[in-house]
Amino acid sequence: MSTETLASNQIAATSDEKHVIDLVDELIRDLPPKSTDTVAFLGAQYDRGLAWVNFPVGYGGLGLSPKYQRIVNERVFAAGGPNAYFRNPIGYGMCGPTVVEWGTDGQKKRYLRPLFTGEEVWCQLFSEPGSGSDFAGLSGKAIRDGDEWLVNAQKVWTTLAHVSRFGLLVVRTDPEAMKHAGLTAMVVDMKAAGVETRPLRQMTGEAEFNEVFFTDARVPVAETLGKPGDGWRVSLTTLMNERVAIGGMIPPKASGPIREAIKLWEKLPLERKTNATRDELMRLWIRAEVSRLTNIRAGQMRKVGAPGPEGSIGKMASADLNKETFAFCMQLLGADGMLYGEYAMVRPNTAMGPTDGLQKSFLRSRANSIEGGTSEVMRNILGERVLGLPGDARVDRDRPWSEIPRN
Ligand SMILES: Cc1cc2nc3c(=O)[nH]c(=O)nc-3n(C[C@H](O)[C@H](O)[C@H](O)COP(=O)(O)OP(=O)(O)OC[C@H]3O[C@@H](n4cnc5c(N)ncnc54)[C@H](O)[C@@H]3O)c2cc1C
Repeated sequence: MSTETLASNQIAATSDEKHVIDLVDELIRDLPPKSTDTVAFLGAQYDRGLAWVNFPVGYGGLGLSPKYQRIVNERVFAAGGPNAYFRNPIGYGMCGPTVVEWGTDGQKKRYLRPLFTGEEVWCQLFSEPGSGSDFAGLSGKAIRDGDEWLVNAQKVWTTLAHVSRFGLLVVRTDPEAMKHAGLTAMVVDMKAAGVETRPLRQMTGEAEFNEVFFTDARVPVAETLGKPGDGWRVSLTTLMNERVAIGGMIPPKASGPIREAIKLWEKLPLERKTNATRDELMRLWIRAEVSRLTNIRAGQMRKVGAPGPEGSIGKMASADLNKETFAFCMQLLGADGMLYGEYAMVRPNTAMGPTDGLQKSFLRSRANSIEGGTSEVMRNILGERVLGLPGDARVDRDRPWSEIPRN
């Protein structure tokens, strides 16, 4: 890049940044978050293009680099404003970016604003009992019947389906096509006839996710995202955004799990503050900071549009780090780590908010290396698509799905 181009890019970046800062400050001034209704505040945030700054103007964005979202969030949260992500994590982090990339104008207008305000929660209906990592092999199906899809499928691990108004569903519409080519994505009404949601209780005692059964459920063809057969490409948009949403968040320095570990260590009696536990705490702190700085760098390089495979780095690193940090907390707690309190089945309204208690956080962190794609699968993606290593063996890639042996 020439020196002149570089200089003009820097000027544009500076003026974009100032524009964003001015807009947020105006929003906070016009609607002081502490005394404004949450939905009204988030609605105004959307209307002023500050919901996802990288989205197009008119759809909650400003058409700018996603790196400026951090400025918006920091200022809104510092003023006591709401966090749209915690209100609707799957919707905000994954379904919104998918709708904006693949939806028609009508779908974008209908869905994005209430998704952002949290008035309509969304869920992601991808995994099936026989297809998780090998999601492209799924067998839930939809057959076209006039202007409708007739859906029969069983989905599993569907986070927040029990509170969702809409779901992003991927099913097989052409069993004779190659497995990646026969998939179609669509928006489903979770309250429609033929859609049944049942709780799945996890080891924290909560049931934040569900099984969802579709029995002759009817979905208007107009609710297809992309075209029939685009389902795999649509899902990639969702999955890449999911990895950034899970692992690419940029927390303040020494916050989150590492903050919990520091607080716990500080409260330990002097005789238990050994060199070994101090060293371990420092090691975890350094990794948390390296991960945070790496995410800042990745965020600054991210362009407008769907994130690339580099989102898998943050996802993989944060999964291991969270698990190890909470395991360290259990080690510090000693026998107290086994005390859990009431083990009632709770149906939470959000899946990404702060959890209550270190024991629960420890148990919940075990899912971090599975949800949004396992750490083994992240290593495959990074090996193949970032490092350029030889690919995993894929013997079923070029065969029609109907000919692939299944359990
Ligand atoms: C808390 C939580 C929330 C979730 N929320 C949702 C949701 O909202 N919507 C949704 O659709 N899904 C959701 N999931 C499902 C999640 O995406 C899957 O669990 C995940 O993709 C793994 O699939 P699986 O469970 O079928 O395991 P499998 O794919 O059967 O994997 C089993 C083991 O084999 C390994 N493995 C598989 N393939 C390979 C390979 N090619 N190379 C190396 N190792 C491999 C895996 O790493 C794993 O260790 C959620 C899961 C969890 C834990």
